[in-house]
Amino acid sequence: MDARESALLESLHTGVFVNGEWRESSTGARFGVDDPATGQQLTTVADASPEDAMAALDAAAAAQDAWAATAPRVRGEILRTAFEAITARTEDFALLMTIEMGKALPEARGEVAYGAEFLRWFSEEAVRIAGRYQTAPDGKTRFMVLRKPVGPSLLITPWNFPLAMATRKAGAAIAAGCTMVIKPAQLTPLTTLLFTQVMVDAGLPAGVLNVIPTTRAGATTGPLLADPRLRKLSFTGSTEVGVRLLQQAAPNVLRTSMELGGNAPFLVFADADLDAAIEGALAAKLRNIGEACTAANRFYVQREVAGEFSRRLAERFAAKVVGRGTEDGVDVGPLIDERSRDKVHGLVTDAVARGAKVVTGGCAVDGPGWFYCPTVLADVPADATVATEEIFGPVAPIVVFDTEDEAVALANSTPFGLIAYAYTTDLNRALRLPERIESGMLGLNAGVISNPAAPFGGVKQSGLGREGGFEGIDEYLSTMYVGIPSPF
Ligand code: NAP
Repeated sequence: MDARESALLESLHTGVFVNGEWRESSTGARFGVDDPATGQQLTTVADASPEDAMAALDAAAAAQDAWAATAPRVRGEILRTAFEAITARTEDFALLMTIEMGKALPEARGEVAYGAEFLRWFSEEAVRIAGRYQTAPDGKTRFMVLRKPVGPSLLITPWNFPLAMATRKAGAAIAAGCTMVIKPAQLTPLTTLLFTQVMVDAGLPAGVLNVIPTTRAGATTGPLLADPRLRKLSFTGSTEVGVRLLQQAAPNVLRTSMELGGNAPFLVFADADLDAAIEGALAAKLRNIGEACTAANRFYVQREVAGEFSRRLAERFAAKVVGRGTEDGVDVGPLIDERSRDKVHGLVTDAVARGAKVVTGGCAVDGPGWFYCPTVLADVPADATVATEEIFGPVAPIVVFDTEDEAVALANSTPFGLIAYAYTTDLNRALRLPERIESGMLGLNAGVISNPAAPFGGVKQSGLGREGGFEGIDEYLSTMYVGIPSPF
């Protein structure tokens, strides 16, 4: 760890944050946060107990009415100030994400821009919450339709985008007038803690945003989900945990937003611009070390171009520099932990046993740290586990197809439907595919499409609701209709 990293870590608040105060956990327990590139502990963080979580909900519930009554312009200005502050501290946020999560610094800077932008976007949305006044069809009554904050919200975030997953939820909640309790991922709580301090410095009142890092996710959030004061759950993470949380949310009929697992197909038709498809594939696969819900998971390439696509993609993968993300020139950092690396290698080994060919990569890199070589696999059977499960690593399995019908059937042959990618220059095909493919998002001749101004989210087992775009704030608003007799 160098001097800059140490200074940054020393400047961090590492407590639980409840009702505007940093404190130790009620048990006094702390847990370590490790650098996945070195395996070394970076620092320790207070380990919130169920009592801390309840204190956080108490604070959020107590602050709700005043926050809902705060002028939208004031809520917007706080978000705008935080956007400026995060942008000004890009290097701190990027470094912190790189050392706690592993992504290379240039990518971490990209996430700072993306993550901060949610705050700017929602600062602009806060002042545009509107209802309507309407004459009933029979003319005898009037309808007044109000949009009101849902209320205290629980926001549970994953480790792979430590800033953006927090701002995407908190930005919308703050703009809508909701108070919140954030439970960051155990593996990457530090960025959320720095984000929290920025929100406090930007003027967010006590109780509006509370943070409970913890090693006991279920035990800590369970009592909150059972408490009728909680009105909303927004979760980003695996489908498996999401399903469990939906079950826990059911007894109180909680509003839920679920951003769950993906298994994105990446379709390359023979009429595609192959240069563009290769660039798109690199971005869609290697962004965030392949640890993105939007990562291309299965490459379906039309037979005529499959050989050339595999060869060129493998050349580009082989040229990528693997290493600690803080080092100059590094493209691909470590996977998040040993378990993830072993899982990725297991999927590759299984595919090879089933007849796939390793075109490049296919092996772990010696540690310390949990590195895996960028890998291209050709001749992968369509039903190999590597093509049916979310890989979450830098591995591109290539499956050959012959017809559009076959490609669409393969793309849709999964319970997931977050995002798909398709490369074609045929205009009619490009217009057909969005209607035929079952997913919440489609990158059409584009390998990265996430944008705070666009609605992000999935269909099928990839989730419920949307984050970002005009739709993002709706997740934190409820609709009330008031019936009024005609004034005439
Ligand atoms: P995860 O294991 O589901 O964890 C996500 C969050 O849920 C973490 O904060 C985790 O806490 C918490 N959690 C785990 N069990 C819980 C429980 N019983 N009750 C309450 N909270 C619980 O997922 P992950 O491994 O962090 O993230 C990877 C997954 O997220 C992938 O499937 C990826 O596709 C998905 N993802 C989806 C999107 C999207 O927008 N659709 C975006 C990013 C990632 P701990 O950290 O303590 O385990």
